[in-house]
Amino acid sequence: MARLTYCQAMAKHLSKLDGWIEQPDWPRVACPSCGDGTLAPGTLVPACDVRSARLEAKRQRGGRPEELTGTFHGQLLCDNSSCGQIVSVAGDWQLIVNESGNPELGSFVENYRVRYANPPLRLLETPPATPATVRQGIESASSVLWASPGSAANRLRYAVEELLTAKKVRQNTMTRKKKRRRLSTGERLGLLEQSHHDVAKMLEAVKWIGNDGSHTEGLTASQVMEGAEILEMALKALYDRKDAELQKKIRAINRAKRLPRKQG
Ligand SMILES: [Zn+2]
Repeated sequence: MARLTYCQAMAKHLSKLDGWIEQPDWPRVACPSCGDGTLAPGTLVPACDVRSARLEAKRQRGGRPEELTGTFHGQLLCDNSSCGQIVSVAGDWQLIVNESGNPELGSFVENYRVRYANPPLRLLETPPATPATVRQGIESASSVLWASPGSAANRLRYAVEELLTAKKVRQNTMTRKKKRRRLSTGERLGLLEQSHHDVAKMLEAVKWIGNDGSHTEGLTASQVMEGAEILEMALKALYDRKDAELQKKIRAINRAKRLPRKQG
């Protein structure tokens, strides 16, 4: 095998990996381990299903080539040579008539659809100060994203609930009959709205997508990623201190009319 060299490509959005992919157009998404490198397809091994295996056997005996279906397993390799992470992937495979208009690809092209990736690919970037429970919810969503997008949406909703708990939004209330009643996620978001209006609205949207995940069969990985993007925005608003630190620096420079000298 050729030695990997570090020629990092610009990472494609994870949604590009959703649906059927032609191997020459394999989208290089970010490495889940280093975050700097991108994942290039290594060996991808297709396996025909029973019907296609029969058609293929027929072709090998002199029959005409047919479109085939089946599964695949293989590896994606990080192009950052100081990382070298290998991600195992598996999913659906098909060999179909080339209708791309590109004759270089031959009469038939191979297509792949990812259903599994381990270690899981990063659904979103979390600021370092993000609570561990929220991070775990997001990782859990990432691990089932391809196999069951609906479950992934649901787990993002769970991450929202963990976030409310981390922000000390209460979980219960007392009824008139002095009985403890659990507050719904919607009610808890209403409480958060009093102090963090915009963030509460973002989290509400993630909650609705999660609800959809529980009731709708056809939720796609890309739709889950829309929810993840909104959750990322909320986490940045709550836990990303970069903007605040930059503002502090600007005030210090303007006050000193120069870059302030370091103490000691
Ligand atoms: Zn890497």
